[in-house]
Amino acid sequence: MKDFTNLAELGYLVSAVLFIFGIKYLGSPKTAVRGNQLGAAGMLLAVLITLGRMGGEGILGWPLILIGLGVGSGIGLWMAKRVEMTGMPELVALFNGFGGAASALVAASELIKMAPQLEGATGSFLLSRQVFLVAIGASSVIGWVTLTGSLIAMFKLNGKIQGNLKLPTINVLKLGLLIASVIGAVLLYMDPTSVTGITLIVLGSCLLGVIFVMPIGGADMPVVISFLNSLSGLAAAATGFVIMNNALIVSGSLVGAAGLILTGIMCKAMNRPFLDVMLKAYGAADGGGSDSGEKRTVRGYEAEEAAMVFDGARLVIVVPGYGMAVSQAQHVVRELADQLESKGTEVRYAIHPVAGRMPGHMNVLLAEANVPYDKLFELDDINSAFSECDVALVVGANDTVNPAAHTDPSGPLGGMPVLDVEKARTTIIVKRSLSPGYAGVDNDLFYRPSTMMLFGDGKQKLNDLLGAVKEL
Ligand code: NDP
Repeated sequence: MKDFTNLAELGYLVSAVLFIFGIKYLGSPKTAVRGNQLGAAGMLLAVLITLGRMGGEGILGWPLILIGLGVGSGIGLWMAKRVEMTGMPELVALFNGFGGAASALVAASELIKMAPQLEGATGSFLLSRQVFLVAIGASSVIGWVTLTGSLIAMFKLNGKIQGNLKLPTINVLKLGLLIASVIGAVLLYMDPTSVTGITLIVLGSCLLGVIFVMPIGGADMPVVISFLNSLSGLAAAATGFVIMNNALIVSGSLVGAAGLILTGIMCKAMNRPFLDVMLKAYGAADGGGSDSGEKRTVRGYEAEEAAMVFDGARLVIVVPGYGMAVSQAQHVVRELADQLESKGTEVRYAIHPVAGRMPGHMNVLLAEANVPYDKLFELDDINSAFSECDVALVVGANDTVNPAAHTDPSGPLGGMPVLDVEKARTTIIVKRSLSPGYAGVDNDLFYRPSTMMLFGDGKQKLNDLLGAVKEL
């Protein structure tokens, strides 16, 4: 039995190494597929070892393990098959929340199992007791916050919750709930059977998750989503200490650290300090546009008219946004680019860090359409090129190109770096209407003299444009 335990620990070490190399390779689009495979192989190894331990040592028994595997895999498969590509961000948010809940539930079950032995602990067992109870508190508080916070984030992403909760005392409420949850953890530390402790943790943390995400909205959602992702990793790492599983400690810490780094990147993308996003609730637009009451008209162009501006163009910059994901226009974007390149036009892609509804959303879609990675440019690297480009082709992007970020510093987009598409000689915008983007801010770009609006579904309109460009 001891040999198996040593072998299992060695296996966990191998899976930890696979996770680390997996993350390293995920750092570049060129090696990302290999990184994903390494991470998945590491997780498979860790799962097999754990199953071997639980079944082989008779902790749970194979029938129960197989039933759990069957039910879980079945539900996962059904959800993954059912979800539309546009629903992926919500699904990811939901799975994130489930990760937090799983950590908290494992911690709760271990507490119930171990509580009688913890009373009156002495000697070296006393130290293990302390580590165990601190880990239980951390896993429970972070896990429940992650669950309810992620559920609210999911409803905000799919539009079922609109606008941002605004209460003058909301930050006091958050602090109160945090203190209540920590007091619950302290009570549990002093007495592992404390019902008041458990109640305070569960109620305080669940409410905290809701109150923490409700005031944040609009363009700041990517920061919240990355942070919740990090919290789910930290909850898992804490649970790793509860059940003393090295693979869980390492993988949870990696997710936690990666999530924190991503949170930092998203804050930089929004040009806002993390604490300001968490405490100031910038997204003040209430789900609608910032309609000033002023009625302005805008002319819609036909694809044939828009195609003319590509004639003889030297540089075209494609700016994809959430609408490209909705209409699944990435393949026709690539075909149009191929067509333009065959006529001697250089085509580049400008990727805003928060475009779409999940980090890296545009990179994934363009990779699916086999757009070469070296044609994708990040905001800082491409913004100066707009003034030299003949056409900026905006496909379903809105907030990420909205000049209100510069002109309305106190608005929901205020201060966020945006792609300066208005500096291009001509800006073609493909979208269905004049409706605002996710942050609910009206976009002045639609009314500029150098803008051509191509109204309609992204894929349909780009197909029309492709046909017209071929005719040139
Ligand atoms: P936006 O959400 O600002 O705008 C998308 C535009 O796409 C809409 O204005 C819509 O206009 C258009 N659209 C929708 N469906 C179609 C379609 N079928 N064909 C053509 N156009 C369509 O997108 P951006 O990518 O510019 O900005 C992303 C926003 O989402 C930012 O505010 C960001 O902060 C936020 N966010 C980002 C997350 C991330 O991790 N990346 C996570 C959560 C939020 P119309 O209806 O007129 O067609």
